[in-house]
Amino acid sequence: MLDRYDREINYLRVSITDRCNLRCKYCMPKEGLSLLGHDDILKYEEIARIVSTAAKMGITKVRITGGEPLVRRGVVGFVNSLSTIEGLRDISLTTNGILLEELAEKLFAAGMRRINISMDSLNPEKYTHITGGGNLNKVLAGIEEVHRVGFSPIKINIVAMKGFNDNEILDFVKLTLHKPYQIRFIEFMNMGNVALDHRTQYLSNMIIKEIIGRNYPLALVNNNKYKSDGPAEIYRIVDGAGEIGFISPLSHKFCHTCNRLRLTADGRLRICLLSDEEVDLKGPLRNGCTDADLIELIETAITQKPLQHDISCEETHRKKCMTDMSSIGG
Ligand code: SAM
Repeated sequence: MLDRYDREINYLRVSITDRCNLRCKYCMPKEGLSLLGHDDILKYEEIARIVSTAAKMGITKVRITGGEPLVRRGVVGFVNSLSTIEGLRDISLTTNGILLEELAEKLFAAGMRRINISMDSLNPEKYTHITGGGNLNKVLAGIEEVHRVGFSPIKINIVAMKGFNDNEILDFVKLTLHKPYQIRFIEFMNMGNVALDHRTQYLSNMIIKEIIGRNYPLALVNNNKYKSDGPAEIYRIVDGAGEIGFISPLSHKFCHTCNRLRLTADGRLRICLLSDEEVDLKGPLRNGCTDADLIELIETAITQKPLQHDISCEETHRKKCMTDMSSIGG
């Protein structure tokens, strides 16, 4: 499936719930979540129908996200059902890792191999603060467990925030010295109505790379090492076991490589992370649409994909997307 700008769209991110067991200050609305009703959320069978239709159209990769995907009951069975869909080659997960220690083996057995874990501080008190109550030890135990079980690659997502975790950059880097983890610094995006102030807390990846480069010899890694690396620019410390990725949607737009669509938990296809334009699939699905109708709707979403998001480097603080990340899934 090519869009109007000749980008091949082969990646679907699927949010299976808007519920989360954490309250990250850069992700959730400051006035609290207004949760979707049970009937508003797509059933697993409905998601599987969308995914299998999309797979016939050329989607080969699916990432399960949320909210926190591991809080939805039946997630392991759902992964199992996805792994039987013809044409899907890659099923991965983005999680905060809190429930990972108990679910890692089951997810692996269900066919999942790749995992991204969000962890924005290595300091237990700071972690609890930024996540609104999370326990860092649970996440660390989850990371150990996915390593033991054999997941690869294991990617650790860090949203970089000035005045919060900029003094931990080198501690994160040290995680890659002896373990094959890929840590990924993600630029804080100004979305929704979150508690953190983007103006004072946005930190460009250019600065992070400079700090790391002053302390360690950095070597550029071939970005195609894992085809799944997507927009990350990847380095490693010379002689280190792991890698360091930089995801820089604001300082270095990567829209020209965009290959993805996003399905929200309530069945809307988002055409661009930073735009609130969406195509509803849930209504037509529940009104008995045919597979041909579904294909047409997915095609409509693809043709509407913009060339790029329109937040420029000079105006990184301007808010374009009013939807919170927690209800899109990242
Ligand atoms: N609960 C899961 C987790 O914590 O990974 C999945 C959902 S979360 C919305 C997906 C990713 O989006 C996480 O890595 C999170 O750090 C990132 N994220 C959330 N809000 C963000 C923001 N404003 N800017 C950049 N990344 C953000």
